[in-house]
Amino acid sequence: MTIIDKYQQKQVFSFEMFPPKGKHNMEKLHETIDLFSTLKPDFISVTMGAGGAGNSKGTVDITDDIQQRYQIDSVVHLPSIHLSKPEVTHILADLKHRGISNILALRGDERPGAIRSQDFNYASDLIEFIKESGDFNVLAACYPEGHTQSASIVEDVKHLKRKADAGVDAFVTQLFLDNEYFYRFRERADIVGIDQPISAGIMPVTSKKQIERMIQLTGANLPKKFVSIIDRFGDNPKALLDAGIAYAVDQIIDLLAQDVNGIHLYTMNNSYIAKNIYRAIKNIV
Ligand code: FAD
Repeated sequence: MTIIDKYQQKQVFSFEMFPPKGKHNMEKLHETIDLFSTLKPDFISVTMGAGGAGNSKGTVDITDDIQQRYQIDSVVHLPSIHLSKPEVTHILADLKHRGISNILALRGDERPGAIRSQDFNYASDLIEFIKESGDFNVLAACYPEGHTQSASIVEDVKHLKRKADAGVDAFVTQLFLDNEYFYRFRERADIVGIDQPISAGIMPVTSKKQIERMIQLTGANLPKKFVSIIDRFGDNPKALLDAGIAYAVDQIIDLLAQDVNGIHLYTMNNSYIAKNIYRAIKNIV
């Protein structure tokens, strides 16, 4: 069954991880995937830095490993802002050779000093190119609170429709901390005729530093309830970890009850978080 078939049949539960730096962290990563595999996610996706050609190997190797060694469906992220068509063709040939058929197609963010792609201005260009190049399942990113570079959420949803029309099979959202943004976004997507499944991206917030970075990157709004948690437990890492997990579980249960198509957990390669969230919802998913 492909991951797209899974979306037709159930609420999909997926994890996101990133390739760590250094040999020691690589060994730790395998312990993490070992644990993840016991939780039986529907798929695991692996991020890729938008560094350009030569940047993809670590991500593709881990994605391959998840599929071959752990027999779990995996999804490779592919940001194209610094890639040319021949470079993407080369990556796609490698994926095909390894039997990796699921791609999260992204534009990515510009890296200072790197040359911007002449071939892929937006993710929709990459999605079209992948769909013309072979039999791949394509996922793409979406933004319940609007992308930070968009003038408005309405404009962003119009651009999202282009991605949908380019052949996306399913969407995964940016993290959000207030489910109301997700529900409003889902309605807007429905109104413009986007009928692909949408997984909700949930990131359990577990450290003060992480929150600051996350807000800077995503512009996510912070609900009052969340701010109170940070104010009360921000300087107590263990308490914040428990509170962050409880907050994420609360969000997930509400989303599942509102018929979300899937939950995509930004695990930060942290098996403690994944395990505790999974335990709290295993009879619900
Ligand atoms: P796009 O869909 O191209 O959108 C980018 C901006 O352009 C938006 O403001 C959009 O409204 C606008 N736009 C789109 N089409 C048009 C058009 N035709 N005309 C005018 N404007 C348009 N980054 C990484 O580097 N590596 C990763 O592994 C990674 N994984 C991610 C996973 C998820 C689930 C998400 C939500 C994000 C991820 N990102 C990753 C971050 C992502 O690369 C950035 O958010 C990036 O700024 C936008 O990428 P995109 O694919 O959404 O771009």
